[in-house]
Amino acid sequence: MSTPHLANLIDGRLQAPIHDRWLDVHEPATATVFARCPDSDAADVDAAVAAARRAAPGWAGTPIEQRAQLLERLATLIEARLDQFAALESRDSGKPLGLARRLDIPRAISNLRYFAAAITGWGSESHAMETGAGIAAINYTLRQPLGVVGCISPWNLPLYLFSWKIAPALAAGNTVVAKPSEVTPCTAALLGELSIEAGFPPGVLNIVQGLGPGVGQAIVDHPDIKAISFTGSTATGARIASSAAARFKKVSLEMGGKNPAIVFADADLSDANLDTIVRSGFANQGEICLCGSRLLVQRSIYETFRARYLARVQALRVGDPQDADIDLGAMVSRAHYDKVLGCIEQARAEGGRVLCGGGALAQPGRCAGGWFIAPTVIEGLPSSATTNQQEIFGPVVALIPFEDEAEALAIANDSRYGLAASLWTQDLARAHRLAGRLEFGIVWINCWLLRDLRTPFGGVKQSGVGREGGSEALHFFTEPKNVCIAYGTSPGRG
Ligand code: NAD
Repeated sequence: MSTPHLANLIDGRLQAPIHDRWLDVHEPATATVFARCPDSDAADVDAAVAAARRAAPGWAGTPIEQRAQLLERLATLIEARLDQFAALESRDSGKPLGLARRLDIPRAISNLRYFAAAITGWGSESHAMETGAGIAAINYTLRQPLGVVGCISPWNLPLYLFSWKIAPALAAGNTVVAKPSEVTPCTAALLGELSIEAGFPPGVLNIVQGLGPGVGQAIVDHPDIKAISFTGSTATGARIASSAAARFKKVSLEMGGKNPAIVFADADLSDANLDTIVRSGFANQGEICLCGSRLLVQRSIYETFRARYLARVQALRVGDPQDADIDLGAMVSRAHYDKVLGCIEQARAEGGRVLCGGGALAQPGRCAGGWFIAPTVIEGLPSSATTNQQEIFGPVVALIPFEDEAEALAIANDSRYGLAASLWTQDLARAHRLAGRLEFGIVWINCWLLRDLRTPFGGVKQSGVGREGGSEALHFFTEPKNVCIAYGTSPGRG
């Protein structure tokens, strides 16, 4: 059987890349090629931007209810094929099929539905003004779409994050040129096909597949693209920020993290909570930007906590992502697998004790060549160690003891990143105190990855610029314009 070739979506049509170049798409669990993805370039981006420009006035003028209906229809089409999407996502990324079915695809559907509803309920502000000199005015704010916007997403939650960007962009009336990660291009390609079936007008949503430095950079540099919404690594985010600054483009950057989970002696360490703490380190093989890779534990409970925690981590099942009873699948790519193994070696070299895991994990049968790593727990390294400073983005957690609240806060904030922190304590006053002082965009108290789509999402320091989610995303994808209507005796004054 020939290898399937994915297509770009440009101007409402599925198209091969103009220069007919292709990239291999691997199944991480078997290290084999199962699809080919367009290796597009600036010429494809130009065609997509031209189509998006032509579509922009019509889409901006489309009644909000109709835009919302199309997003809703797309959500329903994806929902009807949930199993197909989940199987494709799992095959493409190495994540457990169960996770794709439970988390990734349902969340993509929710993203589309949420922004379909949000835009219909969105209002803008108005202010009545009295000058006291016989002049009065009404100010109101027009929230207008930007025009053509660029959306660039990573490989770890492929459809989840792709839809998290295109949904608010489209809902707000922009036309879109989007690029999913070349490592996991499949589900975005399928979404593109379904957008035609849903009835989106040609050019409203364009998807150009290909490499970051080629397609991604061409999107960032294109003079007709007004804003860039990016999720990915901090190094790429920095490159995008500097290119965009020279062109005065709006950017929203969601980047790396080195998140702490902080466990106080007074925490409710029920089995369910301990399971959540384990999940917060190892879900999706640790390839979630929100995973806690620094586990800070109060010294008075350190020994007992470590024993219970390790027993659970050692019980995690790693294996074929298609199996229903596994917890962790394969690392997304050979390059990332090598990087994570290198980080574990570095932890050993800088004096870390590997308490469990610590290397690759061979699999039987069809997964014998796959990129699997054992869940790994390390201790004995100071906060300043490279292991506790660099983003590893794999199934690797470092345990760090602390004495008291002040030390916990100092260690947690000792990072160039500031995405998410989770706190485990039953002391409400302490929780509030620390929530205010932790230098992170998100603080979870006695929970992890509990997401309400209305809330702001994003990080501080080198984890992010700007926020996504709820009205923050709609603000990003619109330009506010103040309109002032004066009435009274001398409206020209003042
Ligand atoms: P990456 O930066 O390598 O790639 C992300 C996207 O940017 C891809 O589509 C890639 O092709 C594109 N890209 C690469 N170079 C580009 C360039 N010069 N111009 C424009 N686009 C370019 O990141 P990744 O390895 O795909 O994803 C993992 C990273 O993403 C981790 O650092 C993780 O923390 C981060 N992440 C952050 C969040 C968040 O919300 N903060 C969420 C998920 C992942």
